[in-house]
Amino acid sequence: MKIPLRVPCDSCKKEEPIFIDLSDSSFERKCSCGDVYSGFLGNDVTVGYKILFRSRYELIETGDYPLSIVFSAAAFECELSRLHFKWSDITALQTGKPVSDGDLEELLRKYRSIDVKIEEVCKLMDPLGFQEFVKSSTELRQTITEGFQSLSLNSLTSDFQQKLFWPRNRVLHLADTSFKKADGVRCFNIATLGLRILEELDKKKRNTF
Ligand SMILES: [Zn+2]
Repeated sequence: MKIPLRVPCDSCKKEEPIFIDLSDSSFERKCSCGDVYSGFLGNDVTVGYKILFRSRYELIETGDYPLSIVFSAAAFECELSRLHFKWSDITALQTGKPVSDGDLEELLRKYRSIDVKIEEVCKLMDPLGFQEFVKSSTELRQTITEGFQSLSLNSLTSDFQQKLFWPRNRVLHLADTSFKKADGVRCFNIATLGLRILEELDKKKRNTF
C-alpha cells in the first residue's frame, strides 16, 4: 500500500508527494531541482496515521471520496488492531502466559461488531472503555461538542459505527459510490478524532507503567 508523505525539498522548498510503503519508516526523494533529501518517520507515525495520510490524499488530490472513506475507516480499525496486539502482548509478558498472534487474531474476529471491538480493545488501556473515557476528559468532550455535530457523547461508540463504518460498508458491500466531498471530509475528521482518542488512551496506559 502506497502512503503519500508531504515533505518539502530542503533546498528549493518544492513539495510533491513522496510515496513510501505502509511498512517503511524512512523516505528518500530526488527533487526536480537535483537535490536528494531523506528522513525518518517518528514513532508516533503509526500504521493508522499512515493510512490516514492516504485517505487525505484521496480526498484532496484525487477527489476519490468513496476510496477516502474506505481508508478513513481502515485507519481507525488498523490502529485499534495494533493496540489490541500491543497491549495483549505486554499483559501476556507480565502474567507469564504467552499468547500467539493466531490467538490474538481469533479474539479480534470474535467481536461481533465494530462497536463491541472498539469498546473491548479500549478496555485493555482503560477500564472505562472508549465512550466513558472520552466523557471523562474535559478536552475531548469539548472537541466533540464544539466540532462534531454528527457525534453525541452519550452514543459515541455507536456513532463511530454508524457515521464511519456504515458508509465504508456501503462502498464495499453495495458498491455505493454516491458519496460526496462533504461525506469524505466528515469520515476523515471522525477517523482523525478516533486516532487522537486512541493515542490518549495509549498514553494513559503507558504512564501507569
Ligand atoms: Zn528541490
